[in-house]
Amino acid sequence: MPTTTTTAQLDSFNPATGELVGSVPTTPAAEIPAIVARAREALASWGSMTAQQRADIVRPAGKALADRADELGELLTREMGKPLAEGVGECRGTGEGLSDEVDEIAKAVAPQRLDGDGVKTTLYHDPLGVCAAITPWNFPLAMPHWMTLPALVTGNTVVLKPSEQTPLIAQAYADVLNEFLPAGVLQVVHGADEQGKALVAADVDLIAFTGSKTVGQKIMQAAAGGLKRLILELGSKDPLIVLEGADLDAAAAFAARNSFRNCGQVCVSTERIYVQDSVKDLFLAKLMEESKAYAVGDGMSEGTVVGPMISDEQKSHVERQLADAIAAGARVAFGGDKRDGRFMSPTVLDGVTHAMDIMRTETFGPVACVMGIGTADEAVALANDSEYGLGGVVFGPDDQARSVARRLNSAMVGVNRGLAGAPGSPWVGAKQSGYSYHSGPMGHRQFCQVRVVSEGDPG
Ligand code: NAD
Repeated sequence: MPTTTTTAQLDSFNPATGELVGSVPTTPAAEIPAIVARAREALASWGSMTAQQRADIVRPAGKALADRADELGELLTREMGKPLAEGVGECRGTGEGLSDEVDEIAKAVAPQRLDGDGVKTTLYHDPLGVCAAITPWNFPLAMPHWMTLPALVTGNTVVLKPSEQTPLIAQAYADVLNEFLPAGVLQVVHGADEQGKALVAADVDLIAFTGSKTVGQKIMQAAAGGLKRLILELGSKDPLIVLEGADLDAAAAFAARNSFRNCGQVCVSTERIYVQDSVKDLFLAKLMEESKAYAVGDGMSEGTVVGPMISDEQKSHVERQLADAIAAGARVAFGGDKRDGRFMSPTVLDGVTHAMDIMRTETFGPVACVMGIGTADEAVALANDSEYGLGGVVFGPDDQARSVARRLNSAMVGVNRGLAGAPGSPWVGAKQSGYSYHSGPMGHRQFCQVRVVSEGDPG
């Protein structure tokens, strides 16, 4: 099957069918400094408006995105593979939420007064300057949005480099915003690592990146010379802990959904499941039953719940991890059958151990790995035995589950539910899953330079 090409033209292929969906011109890396210079020119007037003025300029883009959600969602699905309803939902949800989001950003960065001891201080949250937004393919409209919208409304100008796997939907997103933004405020460059490196090396002040740990590390190294500000949202190996006394129906339904949705290609997918031995057989039976509902197919076909993997490389990586685990003694409890093209069967693996790569390295595929544990203490130790720490989920009796949740070294934890926080919560990683963060009032301020201006009695 053809893979994305990155010569003069970036061709984007449907991962389900191999058909060409469309193309964009690849941006020559040598042109990126001039594009960044244009972003810097646009900064003078954009950065000097109030955040509320900027919010009001961007606001109509929300309705435009929502109104075109069917058309954009189809493009998203054809380019990336997820089921059509999810593709449309990603576009509609982003559009419908935009108006509240821009108001939340404007409010978060409004000047704050601190008075005391004869001093009146104002805290300002000013724009940092030019923001490079570099994004992955797994939520190919939402990720560019998460990195771009707060940067814009806080007064930065943005050069967006979306994934080379999903340039078309990211370009379509930027085109909608650009119907309302002044020229030069949001530009898009297309390409792969060569363009990403050139953008990081250019005269940018902030790099807002979502992607793998490995690339995050490279960006951090490249940014060190200029001490450029960083927001790095990286990979993970999220644990799910199921304790004796848990609602096993709810735990199994969550385990299947969070292991298989988006074909497992989610940063906060459940990648490791620790179940107390006393309830393991029952949990496993329920998980296998739940797994039957995850029908694999082309995202454009009715009834598809799990689309294809994004690339041959990603599928090979998951197959290799599965084969190694099975060779080391893991047992396929459900699925595991081979499929053509980029499709993979949702698979439940039992009897895994931490000696296996599938319990240590991010899988990013439709696999649920189950390991029996004796005690809650053991579950906490194993869950924390990872370089990552994005999310985690605990199912169990409320008090015990709450106390286990507080001992997890993950930044976002769900107790008897998924990990998504209430509106206003930041999206944040611990350990090597993140560096700085975004979303919610606290996250929006990460896109800003704080300035402290004081007057009053001579100090
Ligand atoms: P990736 O790191 O391979 O690529 C991400 C982006 O970085 C792409 O646009 C790519 O072209 C660019 N890039 C590659 N090399 C670069 C370099 N040297 N300098 C600058 N840019 C460079 O990630 P991916 O395969 O697109 O996405 C999957 C990864 O993203 C997974 O690890 C997943 O966990 C992570 N992710 C994290 C979150 C989160 O919120 N923490 C959300 C979604 C995805």
